[in-house]
Amino acid sequence: MQHPPILVWLRRDLRLHDNPALFHAAATGRPIVPVFIWSPEEAGAWAPGGAHKWWFHHSLLSFRESLAACGASLVIRSGSSERELNAILATTGADAVYWNTRYEPEGKAIDAAILATLKARGISVTPFASHLLHQPDLIKTGSGLPYKVFTPFWKKIHATMEVPAQLPAPASLVASTSQPDSVPIEALDLLPQRNWADGFPSLWTPGEQAARERLTYFCDHLMVAYPKQRDIPEDDGTSQLSPYLHFGEISPRQIWQAVSEKMHDPALQEAGVCYLREIAWREFSYHLIHHFPQTAQENLRPAFDHFPWNTNADWLKRWQTGTTGYPIVDAGMRQLWHTGWMHNRVRIVVASFLTKHLRMHWQHGARWFWDTLVDGNLANNTMGWQWSAGSGADAQPFFRIFNPIAQSERFDAKGTYIKRWVPELGKLPAKYVHTPWTLPRPMQEHLGFYPGKAYPLPVVDHKTAREAALAAYQTIRK
Ligand code: FAD
Repeated sequence: MQHPPILVWLRRDLRLHDNPALFHAAATGRPIVPVFIWSPEEAGAWAPGGAHKWWFHHSLLSFRESLAACGASLVIRSGSSERELNAILATTGADAVYWNTRYEPEGKAIDAAILATLKARGISVTPFASHLLHQPDLIKTGSGLPYKVFTPFWKKIHATMEVPAQLPAPASLVASTSQPDSVPIEALDLLPQRNWADGFPSLWTPGEQAARERLTYFCDHLMVAYPKQRDIPEDDGTSQLSPYLHFGEISPRQIWQAVSEKMHDPALQEAGVCYLREIAWREFSYHLIHHFPQTAQENLRPAFDHFPWNTNADWLKRWQTGTTGYPIVDAGMRQLWHTGWMHNRVRIVVASFLTKHLRMHWQHGARWFWDTLVDGNLANNTMGWQWSAGSGADAQPFFRIFNPIAQSERFDAKGTYIKRWVPELGKLPAKYVHTPWTLPRPMQEHLGFYPGKAYPLPVVDHKTAREAALAAYQTIRK
């Protein structure tokens, strides 16, 4: 007779490699029932956005296939996690549930409640750590408090903590004889109604295999130049692993190990450390969301609760649609819309522009990113926006206001990135592509480009907006 199966509840960890819940369940030799439950309402205000849903659809297709190749079939359900888990436990006779720990506030609360009720019913529940390099509770300052500044956090984890070794994929999985019902992936209705994501399939391949291939490609071809190239938006100079990390199609331990192995080559050491530092920023953002869960909604620095934010729906729309009249901002916002991703340097510029030049609350930006980014991630997005607005941990001081023109000239000198995403500016010489409104009249006539016609004039004047932002900041400094 078969032992009772173990139910493995998968969430954002759709991978076979370095998946502790799956690995340890398989290692018992008992049958397993891998389960995914689509329950967006349980994420509260941060239910998966449109781009996430597109990715989830394809990620589930890919993971179901990988599991099938190992002999198990993925059970997909929709609705309340607790209700669905209970139903599957009853159908299969499973007496144990394994999962990988979550760190976002809503997920943590649901897991804690389910763990308590299942344990009270005699079902054993085992959470594993897989989503981070280190458990956030293990990283404390000398006074035993959570870190709020990145550099000492980085020094602590880099110099004193060893990243646990990654686990292999289970060699095989024993399927349960009692197979619960599963809904078809199509029934989850994750693909957008409008054709907005039509370009995504040519840009992205969700799934574990693609994640592993991209990591190898990065290590073999891009890593060496990463410290220089990572700031150039036009180049394929970064790893683009962010959506794979978000969906758990690859783990940070796998990345850490692959990069560390490359660093045995002395020529790659500096580049490797530079990249691992970015992975540590991700770790830091989870550290913050774990210890300060309210910050997904609230300013980490309460002084910003009194900041005189603007409420201008027209400005917000122009920012969202990439029609602010500042080419680098518009290029970034259009890249986001068309690809579900935006280069980090440009994320910094557009976030600074929204919160400082337009003085719109960072939550507007965080929400838009959440709906449109394939890598939209509560921890990273919250930290990125609070950092940009000046309201967060280790934040960019508010009075440091990025000049979108200077940023554009510095990081996209020839305007190649701008011209790719803002084709209206395609004819302009590099000198004017950053400030099309300064194009001299004779050149306007020669090129047939009239500022304010084919491309909008700036929504605000840089100097005036900067001064207004600094004046607004003075009101909360007192
Ligand atoms: P790489 O340069 O190759 O870096 C590798 C990995 O390190 C990334 O995939 C990411 O996991 C991590 N990382 C890199 N930079 C950061 C950073 N500044 N903060 C935290 N982790 C980092 N990242 C997200 O994954 N999801 C988000 O929702 C998100 N929102 C952001 C919002 C704003 C306003 C800003 C300024 C940044 C945001 N970031 C976010 C961080 C960063 O822009 C992206 O992680 C990065 O652009 C992803 O591209 P990549 O994988 O090629 O990065």
